Amino acid sequence: MTNTSVCPRCDTDTVRVLTTSPVPDRWVMYVCSTCIYSWRSTEPTQATDPATYPAAFKIDPADIPALAAIPPVPPRRQA
Ligand SMILES: [Zn+2]
Repeated sequence: MTNTSVCPRCDTDTVRVLTTSPVPDRWVMYVCSTCIYSWRSTEPTQATDPATYPAAFKIDPADIPALAAIPPVPPRRQA
């Protein structure tokens, strides 16, 4: 069973319900407040379960402030 209270990508417990299916009880969409990863409850466990989320794509919350801005912000032009 998928753990819906822990983010699959950053392993924090800052997960909240983003929205639910228009037809009740079909799916729930979650979002992580730490790394902004979001997923639907009906996705495969590789995308929803911290234990099976690909290790290469995991994020350490401590690294988030130093991540590059996408798209990059260019240096300020001198007037
Ligand atoms: Zn996260």
